[in-house]
Amino acid sequence: MDDFMAELLKLEKFSFGVGDRFARQARAQLRAFILAAQQGLDVIPVWNKSNREHVIVGSEPSGTRAAVEAAVKQLGWRKAYHVDADHIGLKTVDRFVPHSDFYTIDVADWIGKPADATAVEAFIRKHPELAGQISIPRIEWPFQTTAAEVRRIAGKYLLAVQEAGKIYRHIVEAKGGRKFITEVSMDETDQPQTPPELLIILAAIADEKIPIQTIAPKFTGRFNKGVDYVGDVAQFEKEFNEDLAVIAFAVKQYGLPETLKLSVHSGSDKFSIYAPMRRALARFGCGLHIKTAGTTWLEEVIGLAEADGDGLALAREIYAGAVEHAEELCAPYATVIDIDSQKLPSIVTVNGWSAAQFTAALRHDQKNPAYNRHLRQLIHVGYKIAAKMGERYLNALDKYEETVARNVTTNLYERHMKPLLLGLERVAPPEAAVRAPEATVSSL
Ligand SMILES: [Zn+2]
Repeated sequence: MDDFMAELLKLEKFSFGVGDRFARQARAQLRAFILAAQQGLDVIPVWNKSNREHVIVGSEPSGTRAAVEAAVKQLGWRKAYHVDADHIGLKTVDRFVPHSDFYTIDVADWIGKPADATAVEAFIRKHPELAGQISIPRIEWPFQTTAAEVRRIAGKYLLAVQEAGKIYRHIVEAKGGRKFITEVSMDETDQPQTPPELLIILAAIADEKIPIQTIAPKFTGRFNKGVDYVGDVAQFEKEFNEDLAVIAFAVKQYGLPETLKLSVHSGSDKFSIYAPMRRALARFGCGLHIKTAGTTWLEEVIGLAEADGDGLALAREIYAGAVEHAEELCAPYATVIDIDSQKLPSIVTVNGWSAAQFTAALRHDQKNPAYNRHLRQLIHVGYKIAAKMGERYLNALDKYEETVARNVTTNLYERHMKPLLLGLERVAPPEAAVRAPEATVSSL
């Protein structure tokens, strides 16, 4: 598998997945990356949009690419950038192929479906190192696994990995020699993957010869849309550190691409785990891909409300539409939102709000007592209402471009990039000098 790297479009160490539902904010988003670059932070943008979003908005992958190219040209961005076909499968990938150079192969639906028994047995025979005691550098206690556990885990994930292989090979063929970045995502499922499971998944991915550069597991805790993390932060930090250790180990052990890193599908704005992630990245000296797409759409609504006048009127109308169609809007996101309808202000109340009241409720400032995470989640999933407004919504974005763009840029740079990444590259990984990075595997 030494030929992996030669064939790759290499992904940089730090990358941010930004989403742009209506393809109007690429410039404002790119400005955040320029601000970061001016502060010495090397982070590159990846514009991701899923098939689900395209269907709901009624947009095409070509539109994402066009908006990105225009922004890059206008602002003179000279570093790398990518366009991610987010959460695609065999049935949905084709229309992305001419426009995307990053593919997030989503195989969550295949997890738990039984793999062919002979394939499972072959995997176990090929990987005796996975059963027994596995000592991984920088994980305090060795993993203890039994052959039966490896069989169970392989049985749970092997079919998903085989499907990822099929999709990967399909893209290779469709791209006809053009290079691209491959991510495998397993985050849209109900059970988190433990670090030992991640190791087995990575072994299977290497067997399938998928040159993944980012892997998106499901982490412990809830990643509700647009609001902060809900769960045990200490447990998250422990597992996140272990995942980083597992990845570094798997790269050496199975010859996966050296650029392989975690992809955190954050569902936007997981501020309380930014500090733990930052500590872990500093400790390991490794990179990260984080997707925080929906946050930009919410800043559009904040910008419109802040503009007052008919901008505020439109923001109120979006809220009213979201309340009226709450059931329909929430259905595709049922597993990633927690909205208490009792805590939602009435349409009448919101129609009486000033610009300051509306933005205070929606803006993700947890210190502000007026902030309402129920309203924020509902508007997060409510972009279909704006999509239905069509030109009226897009015209408002143009009319209030300055206010909207300021909110989009400030949000990405101040609330996301700065707390998560700024200054990281100057931090030396402390353990590197203390503990030998050599990987050891001993089978019982
Ligand atoms: Zn995801």
